[in-house]
Amino acid sequence: MSMLNQIPSESRCRTLVRRAAFGTRPHCPRCGSSRVRRSEGRYRCPRCRRPFSATSASWLSCMKVTYRQLWTLLLCWQRRYPFGVAVEVSGLSHVTVRRWYRRFRYNLVYESPQLSGTVEVDESFLGRRKTGNQRIAIGAWCRDTRKIVVRRIPNRMQETTDRFLLEHVVRGSIVCTDGAQFYEGIDSFFGYQHVTCNHSEFHFGPTNLAECIWSMLKRFIRRTWHHFRNRHWLPTFLREFEARFNAPELFDSPLTYLQTCLAAVPSR
Ligand SMILES: [Zn+2]
Repeated sequence: MSMLNQIPSESRCRTLVRRAAFGTRPHCPRCGSSRVRRSEGRYRCPRCRRPFSATSASWLSCMKVTYRQLWTLLLCWQRRYPFGVAVEVSGLSHVTVRRWYRRFRYNLVYESPQLSGTVEVDESFLGRRKTGNQRIAIGAWCRDTRKIVVRRIPNRMQETTDRFLLEHVVRGSIVCTDGAQFYEGIDSFFGYQHVTCNHSEFHFGPTNLAECIWSMLKRFIRRTWHHFRNRHWLPTFLREFEARFNAPELFDSPLTYLQTCLAAVPSR
């Protein structure tokens, strides 16, 4: 009940979505003109002679839920509530909730950072081997900025890990890894300072944080999504996890998310 009390009324939710899409002044999504007329909850541009609303210019167009239900679903997704809770609170079907959770994830506006300083790099298996759904992920964690980058990789080959490092870790950084063969030579070839530890001898010191993040990621997938049925979804799960870790302000309230992720046409 406490959560329901935090959800604004339908008209308030509509106002907030409109504010997130247009800012203070509504404008036409086609020509950008702010000389628009308002009628029956929608707008009409005299220049284009077409009606539009706060949602018609973005990925919210043609949505079949009310603004209040949208707000509720977004709040549930931001707080990582399981589907069952979102179904109960919003009154929507399980399929609809799942679809909206996926839509929020796909439309997340977020850029991965470049890591520098002392960076821990490690890889882990996600999913179950017996169901044929096991995938490999590689992650880098910066001790100085507390930022992370996580990606799915097709294999544990030297060229794959090298490409990941060159893309996300600035040259000259101190890279801490386990003693795996595919990290060999990153100091002489790419100019990283390389610190290794031997996991088989229970030496985890330099990659302690990395191990901790893997357990957080696995808990995140299990709690919200239970498991990933479709292997193509894994990169988007990883991106959401990364955004939650690096940009927690996006998940503070539905308004902050919509202000960042609703792509409205800039006004003139
Ligand atoms: Zn127009």
